[in-house]
Amino acid sequence: MGGDCLNTGCVPSKALIKSARVVSQIRKAEEFGLRNATAEVDFAGVMERVQRVIKAVEPHDSAARYTALGVECIQGEARIASPWTVEISTASGTRTLSTRAIVIAAGARPFVPPIPGMDAIRVLTSDNVWELRSCRGGWPSSARPGRLRAGPGVRALGCRGDAGRDAAATARARGP
Ligand SMILES: Cc1cc2nc3c(=O)[nH]c(=O)nc-3n(C[C@H](O)[C@H](O)[C@H](O)COP(=O)(O)OP(=O)(O)OC[C@H]3O[C@@H](n4cnc5c(N)ncnc54)[C@H](O)[C@@H]3O)c2cc1C
Repeated sequence: MGGDCLNTGCVPSKALIKSARVVSQIRKAEEFGLRNATAEVDFAGVMERVQRVIKAVEPHDSAARYTALGVECIQGEARIASPWTVEISTASGTRTLSTRAIVIAAGARPFVPPIPGMDAIRVLTSDNVWELRSCRGGWPSSARPGRLRAGPGVRALGCRGDAGRDAAATARARGP
């Protein structure tokens, strides 16, 4: 369980934003009367922390936890058969459940626009960006992005690479 929010959405993006906030505050340290505070971004270290945060949250979002709380968790492919019935194909056969209300939480997947040439490059989406361990990883320098966009319009993830220096990464939240 956990879905997008745990694995590729809310949790990793907030963990990344936290790292960006910490480095931003360190860079503004003098405003707060703190001298000599410096920070160098270790992009791989930031992204490894993101994975550790996911692992730490995972048990709270698990089928085991919800089962212990009294929720019946059925794993399978669901199909709405009528306004009051849902059919679930599981490994052990099909079950039909009847209900007064059905909540559909079937998620979504990133849309990659059909721009010519897209199939020739490695496209980063909110699904796979979490695999990055280097801002340079996987791109020839000519194709390296100056800026990446992540999230449903409310998050921006910047990824800068300077010649001779390791890339710095920043993330910021926009809007409420
Ligand atoms: C980068 C990013 C940051 C985000 N940050 C936030 C945030 O800060 N706050 C916030 O509220 N939201 C945030 N979101 C949005 C949030 O992650 C999604 O709105 C949420 O995960 C959607 O939940 P869901 O249960 O509908 O879908 P999902 O979590 O995607 O889960 C759907 C599940 O249903 C399964 N499924 C689909 N069809 C069937 C079927 N027929 N039968 C059985 N199973 C099926 C899928 O396999 C999947 O496991 C963010 C998203 C992204 C990408």
